[in-house]
Amino acid sequence: MRLRDLPSISAVLATPAASTPLDRHGRAATTEAIRAVLAEARAALLAGGDTVPDAEAVAALALTRLEGASRSNLRPLFNLTGTVLHTNLGRALLAPEAMAAALAAMGDPVALEFDLDSGKRGERDDHVRALVCELTGAEDATVVNNNAAAVLLALNTLAKGRDAIVSRGELIEIGGAFRMPDIMAQAGARLVEVGTTNRTHAKDYKGALTAETGVILKVHTSNYRIQGFTKEVLAPELAEIAHGAGVPLLNDLGSGTLVDLSTHGLKREPTVREAVAEGADLVTFSGDKLLGGPQAGFIVGRRDLVAAVNRNPMKRALRVDKVRLAAIEATLKLYRDPDRLAQRLPTLALLSRPKAEIEAQARRLAPTLAQALGDGYTVEVCDCASQIGSGALPLDTLPSAGLAVRAGGGALTQLATAFRALSRPIIGRIEEGRLVLDLRCLRDEAAFVATLAELPRP
Ligand SMILES: *Cc1c(COP(=O)(O)O)cnc(C)c1O
Repeated sequence: MRLRDLPSISAVLATPAASTPLDRHGRAATTEAIRAVLAEARAALLAGGDTVPDAEAVAALALTRLEGASRSNLRPLFNLTGTVLHTNLGRALLAPEAMAAALAAMGDPVALEFDLDSGKRGERDDHVRALVCELTGAEDATVVNNNAAAVLLALNTLAKGRDAIVSRGELIEIGGAFRMPDIMAQAGARLVEVGTTNRTHAKDYKGALTAETGVILKVHTSNYRIQGFTKEVLAPELAEIAHGAGVPLLNDLGSGTLVDLSTHGLKREPTVREAVAEGADLVTFSGDKLLGGPQAGFIVGRRDLVAAVNRNPMKRALRVDKVRLAAIEATLKLYRDPDRLAQRLPTLALLSRPKAEIEAQARRLAPTLAQALGDGYTVEVCDCASQIGSGALPLDTLPSAGLAVRAGGGALTQLATAFRALSRPIIGRIEEGRLVLDLRCLRDEAAFVATLAELPRP
């Protein structure tokens, strides 16, 4: 037994090596970490071990422990999954302009609900209302926490205690807890389903209209498509039906976009401007999907209905703070210059990145990755099919390129685990016995190379 050879806590605290943990983490946390390291060393000795760490070594172990524990799981990572707007990885990346605006609003007071011209109380929507109206052609606009909140609030405002008519083909589940029938119930609206899964006709909607109808709801099916023998009533006709009966049409676009994506080499998605022009009385869409901003939900449309939404007490519970509002305003302003949008908005830049450029990057990086992994692995450049993600154009993939790693036994799962443990985790996809890294979203190549260097020497 060499228990008595273990250093005391005070001896460890007195070493030069303890100054770094003391400086970075403070006395209480450092003492606690040293205590834990010593307890483990004692247990190892009692179990028959014979290494006694000296005070310097204990201090170093305590530092490692503290650094590991203080590392945030929200630290930046490399999204090499091939899904650009990955909900689990935080969706859109903000433009530098939006980050700067958010940062400026964080540490100082701003005129959030204060009118600088008159010196009187202002409204928080004032900062984005005019911009959103300009970009969508809507009369009025408001912004809330996310699109789920926008749909909830719009439904509650238009159809609380009344009927909300929706096609059975559009009763979607977006993932997580967003299922249209559940949102309806929470909004206090009675769900009236019409038509069938694949076919809904104008007469189905007309037959369901009663004095109890509060709204007709149209929902972008986002993450799935109904194909084959199908019939859908398009928004312009649905607007006519709704208005004929004196009820509003609410169109939940989901992702929605402010620009024609086909000008950026992507398939078309309905734009918010089109949805407004098609006669919807309110349109809802997300801020952090194709729009490329922070998490937010927009409600745009008729002035009287947006005013009713704003009077709803629920609005207060769903509003956004100054930081996000600043980022939203800066993001929307980028849309005023469509020619440079694809360079300035990271989401659009990533979505429109040409395959040849990604492939060239894969060729550059293949030897570096192979060298970092060593003999047990083979690395090759491979074709990939990226996805937009977040329910936008679910069946359309974007031709891309990446690196495919093969290895024997369970080595691939181990490698994926090691990648996730890096200071900047690398997240790929295991597919057909390979770990695939789709490089479409790799922006900082130098950081990627530096991170690979953290892997243990092969
Ligand atoms: C994504 C989506 C939502 C939810 O939007 P969030 O911004 O994730 O809250 C609602 N409706 C549709 C049709 C969607 O695609």
